[in-house]
Amino acid sequence: MTGVVWLRRDLRVRDHPALCAAATEGPIVPLVVLDPRLTQDSPRFQSYLHAVRALREDLDGLVVRVGDPRDVVPAVCAEARAGAVHVSAEVTPYGRHRDAAVRLALARAGVEWIATGSPYAVTPGRVRTRAGMPFHVFTPFARAWRDSPVPSPPDPPARVRYTRVVSADLPETGTATHPVPVTEAQARARWQEFLTDEIAGYGRDRDRPDHEATSRLSTALKLGSIHPRTLLSDLRSRAATRSDGVERFITELAWREFYADVLWHHPRSAWHDLKDSLHGMQYDHPETNPLAAQHLSAWQAGRTGYPFVDAGMRQLRAEGWMHNRVRMVTASFLTKDLHIWWPHGARHFLDLLRDGDLASNSHGWQWVAGTGTDAAPYFRIFNPVTQGLRFDPDGAYVRRYVPELAHLPGAAAHEPWKHPGPHVAGYPPRIVDHAAERQEALDRYAARGANP
Ligand code: FAD
Repeated sequence: MTGVVWLRRDLRVRDHPALCAAATEGPIVPLVVLDPRLTQDSPRFQSYLHAVRALREDLDGLVVRVGDPRDVVPAVCAEARAGAVHVSAEVTPYGRHRDAAVRLALARAGVEWIATGSPYAVTPGRVRTRAGMPFHVFTPFARAWRDSPVPSPPDPPARVRYTRVVSADLPETGTATHPVPVTEAQARARWQEFLTDEIAGYGRDRDRPDHEATSRLSTALKLGSIHPRTLLSDLRSRAATRSDGVERFITELAWREFYADVLWHHPRSAWHDLKDSLHGMQYDHPETNPLAAQHLSAWQAGRTGYPFVDAGMRQLRAEGWMHNRVRMVTASFLTKDLHIWWPHGARHFLDLLRDGDLASNSHGWQWVAGTGTDAAPYFRIFNPVTQGLRFDPDGAYVRRYVPELAHLPGAAAHEPWKHPGPHVAGYPPRIVDHAAERQEALDRYAARGANP
């Protein structure tokens, strides 16, 4: 009997347990549903469409439908006379809620729901303490996660047969360029390149936004055009060449899995403080405070007068991607220097990032804001100038994204106020004084009874 394979965050054909499960049982209808609640004109959606278009080359029976999955999925099953819907389990709050509703509609129609695998190496919710409890802190989670069994990638189905049903056209994506790997072929090629030439230096260089030292696979991992099991399996088969870079890379994958696990157990943490120890903290609210609204706009536009922050915010707008070190510094600037509650920044990131992922984004923000899982410090306050001098020592990253400072040589690009002149006229003065705002942040924490 025909099985519908409803593809969501698993836009690939290789290492795809749900696709294998369906294809070994009979003909399939690979289905992508463009859910109007999730599709907007964002870089994330552009990348998604690009990956779907590429997938159609590999699965020529791929069907695209637009609408609410609660209506669309049962309707496609009826048209194809399908007896089952195969999925990779979805773990976000919205995805879980939606899937429960679709399952119910399918059950009423007598269609089976078969979930095989998830977008993670270990399905969120599975890594537990010996007492069977969830982990709240990263390091013990990562230890237990590394000890969890991860099955080998399955072989691709020997043969795929299709049941054909009508497909809608995919919306045009224009001529958008994708500065990071998006499709399965791009992701696999980038991974091989990174694995062969770059991973050895990853531990040393991963904090340098002026170097291309990280994998840039976050968008492909988000879309599921490559699966973390594939990466871990390739790394395991290189066990003899374990390096600091390999270990560090596995740790970064563990952060992605940890944050998904936290969101699984605490769906509310997507948009609210995970810990309530900073409940009642004094923030400057852009909704009611005109100065805070101005500050938020300047931060979003990359016009704070702090070059490292501005370079990051402009990279985000130009490419839909930002280097991890700069994500931390820009997030710290919004929350600690401008005293704005982290969800305002998280929303802006999610709107612009190609790799925008609820779990990694909201918990990355909470890590910086001090409201999240991190046992350490709400008083971690990054200095935007010294961070720039340390991680972009020649100013190359700043000059790449802030053309007004392109004439300033070397590290001078980080402190344009020390080099006044007609050239820097187009670049804004600093909107706040970092030293003063750092103290203000510490005072506000102290008023909450939180002393460093
Ligand atoms: P690499 O350094 O090559 O790392 C390999 C993979 O490990 C990444 O692709 C990613 O999947 C995972 N990873 C690496 N660092 C982290 C981390 N700190 N947390 C979780 N996973 C990690 N990552 C997202 O994928 N989506 C987001 O929306 C997102 N928002 C963030 C917001 C903030 C404020 C911060 C501080 C971090 C955020 N991150 C997010 C994590 C990290 O910045 C990106 O995953 C990373 O920059 C992607 O680049 P890369 O693929 O070259 O990473």
